Amino acid sequence: MKKKILLIHTGGTIGMTRDLSSGVLRPDHFYASLLKVIPELSAIADIEVEIPFVFDSAELDFQHWQRLAAIIAARIDAVNGVVVTHGTDTLAYTASALSYMLRNVPVPVILTGAQKPLDELRSDARNNLINAVELACADIPEVCIFFDYQLMRGNRTSKNHINFFDAFHSPNYPLLAEVGINIEIYRTHILHPGGPFRVFNEFSPALAVLKLFPGCRCDYFQPGDDIRAVLIVAYGAGTIPLRTGDLPARIEKWLRQDKLVFLDSEAHGGRIEPQLYESGSRLLEMGVISSGDMTFEAAATKLMFLLGQYDQPEPIKASFQKSLAGELTELS
Ligand code: ASP
Repeated sequence: MKKKILLIHTGGTIGMTRDLSSGVLRPDHFYASLLKVIPELSAIADIEVEIPFVFDSAELDFQHWQRLAAIIAARIDAVNGVVVTHGTDTLAYTASALSYMLRNVPVPVILTGAQKPLDELRSDARNNLINAVELACADIPEVCIFFDYQLMRGNRTSKNHINFFDAFHSPNYPLLAEVGINIEIYRTHILHPGGPFRVFNEFSPALAVLKLFPGCRCDYFQPGDDIRAVLIVAYGAGTIPLRTGDLPARIEKWLRQDKLVFLDSEAHGGRIEPQLYESGSRLLEMGVISSGDMTFEAAATKLMFLLGQYDQPEPIKASFQKSLAGELTELS
């Protein structure tokens, strides 16, 4: 019997149409005819299409993630898998957020998109969609991103190329599957539900992000009373300037104001190790918390998620340092 797949379209280049006079790409309602354009999809599975909104993914925020999670949760018992088509720009954020919200997801939830619209020559949309639907029929109970023949854990990915078709990478976790002549699924890399399926809904926007650059005095960065957590995107293993400017004093001030302070790195691959250098050790002593080997997307969405779940700082700090959905390699 054919598997049932819920296909949710949210917008992005994959479904955009080019305005012929200006060349600008805009969201379009191409999905009405999707199954006619790619009839192979119906050969793979029984496809049910939902279109909650159609946006460039730059427009999305946690309210859209909440809508998506609600649609998926409502249908999860009735389908074998879910495919979400989405703009590539914030795809890694949505995938990370959904992985925290849809805990112990029992079926594959595969997000995909395209670098070129489906109706253009040499588009990657067709391949990405067909393969995402095929993989959504397999036993891969995770929130994933499929892009350019590779299936990745969603909360381990970042968009790393603007022009090439291999637009996503998973710098700190191996691929879950690869598509060639055959589909290779790397079973040992796949998570298995550690408990019953549960949906967590709350998010909070009370997060501010400070990205460092040489010469940054950062005076413009004044997180207000409504901000409960600051995520610093530092250098390399988690270093900041100790002697140039007054960032350490500012961080101490935020901590005295009962804000939580977290540390990430602009480098994508590897784990931050703040204790390696003087500045990072000082931050750890102050109570700043390291984001380990999480991507920026996974860390930022996790903080918004945890700030929404908890009012008190302790469970936020403790949960940030644990893997909720495979986004972090915990040190034993
Ligand atoms: N701006 C588009 C979006 O994220 C880019 C894409 O889909 O590739 O919606």
